[in-house]
Amino acid sequence: MRYLVTGGSGFIGSHLCEKLIEQGHSVLALDDLSTGRYENVAHLENRPEFELRVASVTESRVVEHCVTECNAIFHLASAVGVKLVVEQPVKTIETIVGGTDVVLKAAARYRRPVLLTSTSEVYGKSEKIPFSEGDDCVMGPTTTRRWAYACAKALDEFLALAHWYQTRLPVVVARLFNTVGPRQTGQYGMVIPRFVSQGLRGEPITVFGDGTQSRCFGHVADIVGALTGLMGRPEACGQVYNIGNDEEITILQLAERIRLLTGGKSPIRMVPYGEAYTVGFEDMVRRVPDLRKIKALIGYCPTQTLDNILADVIAEQTQQGVVQGR
Ligand code: UDP
Repeated sequence: MRYLVTGGSGFIGSHLCEKLIEQGHSVLALDDLSTGRYENVAHLENRPEFELRVASVTESRVVEHCVTECNAIFHLASAVGVKLVVEQPVKTIETIVGGTDVVLKAAARYRRPVLLTSTSEVYGKSEKIPFSEGDDCVMGPTTTRRWAYACAKALDEFLALAHWYQTRLPVVVARLFNTVGPRQTGQYGMVIPRFVSQGLRGEPITVFGDGTQSRCFGHVADIVGALTGLMGRPEACGQVYNIGNDEEITILQLAERIRLLTGGKSPIRMVPYGEAYTVGFEDMVRRVPDLRKIKALIGYCPTQTLDNILADVIAEQTQQGVVQGR
């Protein structure tokens, strides 16, 4: 099979490309290298099974060409990270909604199956824990920019499921919970790479708010295994699946754990949300996935613990620090 992976040189996309090649497939990665990085796929470029095409997912003619060259599509291209979303809301909304519209139109024209990656952000501030796929999405006001991301991704889901409903285009929606691992950058706000780099440099570890908010972190290796497991399953068409890990930790506990694992020199600094993002920012208090649905379909069970994840991220950053002479 030849797969199109939009966002193929991003953090998750590049791991997915590797996995597909490992499984004997060939991959066409489409990425505009805005938040995706060439270095993520540089090691794949001399492989005959891999091709990188540098263009935006909103360029319909390019996307259409790519779609015709492939058997199925993993659509990962998206604006990424809360920081970017808050700082560049127009680009965020246009990329998410516009890009998905382009991909789905091309997929519909040429009848190619699509796996759309969505996000646990769509559950919004729902307090019903854990989050199950059929639960309500509880969004905040349109004046709070953070919700633009959740709403745009929810609209993507509606559009994908609408294609399934109206023309039986094979579409599956994967809602990714916090995903971590090598190649993730802290540049767009992601908490684990940020805390690890602060800890390794002996700088203050910045906990936003009071640190009682919690998250569950999945290792990218588990996540891409679930994505490839869902693709091509007829029972998954027209369905939504949570993907992640359900081991919960508060952000303050996470900061303390990373502080110890990185040498214990960093103080922990509490930063009010208004200072970290923008006044009126709303954070999610808890975010835990119900994983029963994907487990029932493909036997998915996360294999990597938070300690494994932290060890991987620390090893990668230590290695980069050594290379850069830090
Ligand atoms: N966070 C933090 N310090 C940082 C970056 C993030 O305390 O330097 C918090 C953030 O407010 C949120 C959690 O860590 O409560 C996870 O943030 P991230 O941006 O990684 O993902 P989110 O779950 O918000 O999409």
